[in-house]
Amino acid sequence: MYTIIGAGIGGLTTAVVFEKLNIDYQLYEKSKRPNALGAGIWLAPNALQVLEFAGVIDSIFKVSNVVDRITLSNEKLKPLADSSQLPAKEKYGFSTVAIHRAKLQLALIKAIPKDKIHWNKAFASYKQEDNAVTVTFQDGTTTQSQYLIGADGIDSKVRGQLFPKSQIRYSGQTCWRGVMKSALPAEYKDRGIEMWGKGIRFGLSQLSENETSWFAVKNSEAFQKDDRAVLKKKLLSYFKDFHPLVNELISNTEINAILRNDITDLKPIKHWQKDNVCLIGDAAHATTPNMGQGGAQAIEDAYYLGKLIAKNPTENNFKAFENKRFKRVNNIVKQSWFTGKIANLNTGYSVRNALFSTLPKKLIDKNMYSVYDLKD
Ligand SMILES: Cc1cc2nc3c(=O)[nH]c(=O)nc-3n(C[C@H](O)[C@H](O)[C@H](O)COP(=O)(O)OP(=O)(O)OC[C@H]3O[C@@H](n4cnc5c(N)ncnc54)[C@H](O)[C@@H]3O)c2cc1C
Repeated sequence: MYTIIGAGIGGLTTAVVFEKLNIDYQLYEKSKRPNALGAGIWLAPNALQVLEFAGVIDSIFKVSNVVDRITLSNEKLKPLADSSQLPAKEKYGFSTVAIHRAKLQLALIKAIPKDKIHWNKAFASYKQEDNAVTVTFQDGTTTQSQYLIGADGIDSKVRGQLFPKSQIRYSGQTCWRGVMKSALPAEYKDRGIEMWGKGIRFGLSQLSENETSWFAVKNSEAFQKDDRAVLKKKLLSYFKDFHPLVNELISNTEINAILRNDITDLKPIKHWQKDNVCLIGDAAHATTPNMGQGGAQAIEDAYYLGKLIAKNPTENNFKAFENKRFKRVNNIVKQSWFTGKIANLNTGYSVRNALFSTLPKKLIDKNMYSVYDLKD
């Protein structure tokens, strides 16, 4: 039996994959109910292949928008790199989709029996004895199982106990995300766009017939707070030189639908598991969002861990899981950190843009498809 802590993208997908593979589990989440907060995320073809395997792809497609073209551009929307996702669709069966995080989580929750998710259960600590792990929750209750999976996100308490020296890194950039309650002009409907300016960037994609998601990233000190009364005005001034779509999106988004997060990741740790306890998703390898792969890697973790357990049900598969995933995921964490530095360059940004526009398309596509590949 597996105890999973955290009903985020990784924990929920693990539960759905375990259902599919008949692996016994119980899932515990600190929130009182499914969280409606958040904004849009992209699900790349690697994530969609897992969600298809898990049997939830139809419900995901019902509440998302397909992105068939991904454009990296300068601030005026002049392309630096423009990739059709159709070759990915041919190769992997899917291009990318844009979806509201809350809708993704609801689609996953619906695929899990109600008596296997326990809300309002905040993990406090665990104790390993022989071949069992006892978890204590903040309300004083306990549960015992053979294995414990920490899927409790970047600030993981399970990791805090397992690897107390792990460190969160601030990237030097902060991010505002918003959801506008209307669609984009038709010509942008199936596009994911990221515009790079001087020390700032802006991204957007439609999520559904009446929702469009955007993000704005700026170099900043850590832990700053917004004066919400003037936030929109400030954002509009940062992005005043950008394509008019940016102004439209910021202006037409309700202030309550704008969230701010400092961009951080987890400094890669040496191991993700020890004995009967294993971390997955952001708890193990939180990455910056620059490649849109954090959630996708949590989803992949669920898939590979499930497959290993199904193949060797009587063994501890955590070490094999770490061996299988470690290199690929850490490469993505590194590449994403580096991409963020390039994307928000202050000095030399025009040289960067000029260089990017000359990069061979084949090279850009090759790099992208290597991330989309799901290998058994
Ligand atoms: C700005 C931004 C944009 C992003 N865009 C993308 C994108 O486009 N595509 C993509 O693939 N990824 C994206 N990501 C990354 C993605 O959001 C994360 O990688 C993903 O959410 C990780 O899933 P997880 O399940 O590991 O953690 P989370 O989704 O954070 O879930 C952790 C869960 O654990 C629960 N929890 C925490 N502590 C406890 C406790 N003590 N007890 C019980 N439960 C607990 C939390 O409440 C939460 O439900 C983005 C991230 C950010 C910040």
